[in-house]
Amino acid sequence: MKLTPIIGLEVHVELKTKSKMFCGCSADYFGKHPNTHTCPVCLGLPGALPVPNKRAIEWCIMIGLALNCDIPLFSKFDRKNYFYPDLPKGYQISQYDQPFAINGSLKLKVKNEKLKKEYEKTIRIRRVHQEEDTGKLIHQAVNGEKVSLIDFNRSGVPLVEIVTEPDFESAEEVIEYLKKLQQIVRYLGVSDANMERGEMRLEPNISLTPRISNFQFPISNENLPKYKVEVKNINSFKFVEKAINYEIIRQTEILEKGETPLQETRGFVEVSNSTVSQRTKEEASDYRYFPEPDIPPFRWIKSQISNLKSQMPELPDKKLKRFGKEYSLSPSDAEILTRQREVADYFEKAVNDGKKFKVSPKQISNYIIHKKPNMKEVLPASLVQSIVQSTRVADVGEDKLRKVIEKVVKANPKAAQDFKKGKENAIMYLVGQVMREFPQRIDAEKIKASLLAKLK
Ligand SMILES: [Zn+2]
Repeated sequence: MKLTPIIGLEVHVELKTKSKMFCGCSADYFGKHPNTHTCPVCLGLPGALPVPNKRAIEWCIMIGLALNCDIPLFSKFDRKNYFYPDLPKGYQISQYDQPFAINGSLKLKVKNEKLKKEYEKTIRIRRVHQEEDTGKLIHQAVNGEKVSLIDFNRSGVPLVEIVTEPDFESAEEVIEYLKKLQQIVRYLGVSDANMERGEMRLEPNISLTPRISNFQFPISNENLPKYKVEVKNINSFKFVEKAINYEIIRQTEILEKGETPLQETRGFVEVSNSTVSQRTKEEASDYRYFPEPDIPPFRWIKSQISNLKSQMPELPDKKLKRFGKEYSLSPSDAEILTRQREVADYFEKAVNDGKKFKVSPKQISNYIIHKKPNMKEVLPASLVQSIVQSTRVADVGEDKLRKVIEKVVKANPKAAQDFKKGKENAIMYLVGQVMREFPQRIDAEKIKASLLAKLK
């Protein structure tokens, strides 16, 4: 029985707004002294009321727009109820049935190393919604006693959740999607999406299904397997790949025995590269979702959405195409230059500065890609100057050049002889020797012509 993995993905991205989602506390909590970025709202004290962060909501919608989503003109927040010590209110303010963005898509180019082929695939985005982060539990020993401490600095930090349809069939596709998503939120400037800091957290859900003859993605709902296994809170691309591949093997073994894997949530264990059962999966109804009574619903008018759209920067795919066309760059050079928005912007500034010195985009692209200048120290204009200096053909005057050539020919009689005997390579050796006599760059063609005249 040939089985195909069916994988969906939930990604949490922390927004880098100045303040938290529903209060005025600073959201810049990483590495700060515990419980110093808190107030009655994010500590969940009775009577404290949430006030939504406008910028966070705008950024959430921008992520939706960047992922080609529809933005419904009506939306609302809901309470997701569950008990855990890092959630002081006993519920998380999230979005249930009317999120800010729905029905999007993201086009991927996937390289399959094994099959040595490249193919395109479109991943459907089910929804993009806004919620708040929880506090953080710290388990440690105090005075020899094992205790759990809670730091609420992270409580209430704006979090955007991006949910795909189950459209991936390999870890490779998932990684490609994650790289692209990370690139997009960084381009938008709404999150640094730094994995080590937990600013981007990954939860793949994996199941397997028999590959029937006319099988193809996207899979219709009735053809989806009757179970799925969710792996929680993974914080690196490498681990998500390992977790997926581990699950594929584990579930294949169960299915081949004629059994069905349990619908459950599992955790990834880094030391053994495996997953372990955490709890059987809860249903949405377990969370007793209901509309957040303290925040009125949102009604957008179309011009608000188009206004947000107009504030968005050019996104990676579009920039990549434009760079290729506008600057005649190879696809691979254009890809390297557009990987990070900072590099792309730097390149374009240098191209602009280089115009009056007739420095071409290709020269600038080569310089950036091969010499990797420190963009914080070398201004685009100085980079242009370096290129101008390195390519300037100095005018040394006929007399001076003739004298140097005589000297070089005298010092290299063998090369001169070789050339006269017909060895073409010898002339280039002599050109090189002449060049070394000058501190500045001299036109090689001019030297060669003078040498030929001399050796005739
Ligand atoms: Zn607060």
